[in-house]
Amino acid sequence: MASLQFSFGTMGSGKSTVALQIHHNLASRQLYGLLLTALDREGGQVTSRLGVAAPAIEVTPDLDVYKLAVDRWPIHYLVCDEVQFYTPAQCDQLARVVDDLEIHVYAFGLLTDFRGQLFDGTKRMLEIADEHRPLQVEARCWCGARATHNARVVNGAVVYEGDTIVVGDTSDSGAQPLFGDTVRYELLCRQHFRLGELGY
Ligand SMILES: [Zn+2]
Repeated sequence: MASLQFSFGTMGSGKSTVALQIHHNLASRQLYGLLLTALDREGGQVTSRLGVAAPAIEVTPDLDVYKLAVDRWPIHYLVCDEVQFYTPAQCDQLARVVDDLEIHVYAFGLLTDFRGQLFDGTKRMLEIADEHRPLQVEARCWCGARATHNARVVNGAVVYEGDTIVVGDTSDSGAQPLFGDTVRYELLCRQHFRLGELGY
């Protein structure tokens, strides 16, 4: 049976690494599938922080993912990274790929945004996926507790308001100016997210 599988975690949980691994494993068994991403740091490819990358189809908000799968037929599977950035309609299109085309869809995404609230795409995936898989690589807060929040740090301080989507990295090297501000993401436990304490 084909199924819609949703794997989720924080930044640093290795989700892109797992997505690349599944794509690689299936391709090496002579199965043909598509690798999709949205708003990846590099654009047009899935990149793992471990240094692995593969070309991917960029899912823009107006792309019909079901139609994409039909146009590329025959295919055996879809691997979809960054599904938190998909629209709810695109998530429903993934479900239709599973139901009507009877192929597996492996979706990966972040659970919550920098405010600690579910992304739109994530919420929809949790509602409709056949299988929910929390990624087992646990990220840690600076205090050693389990990191459950992707805090957005602007000019050195945790912020709780702003646009949902601002692409940044979890390391200082990925910091980028946004209207003159330096934006990055930091993994924190719930308590230190709430207190805005970065441990330095
Ligand atoms: Zn902590």
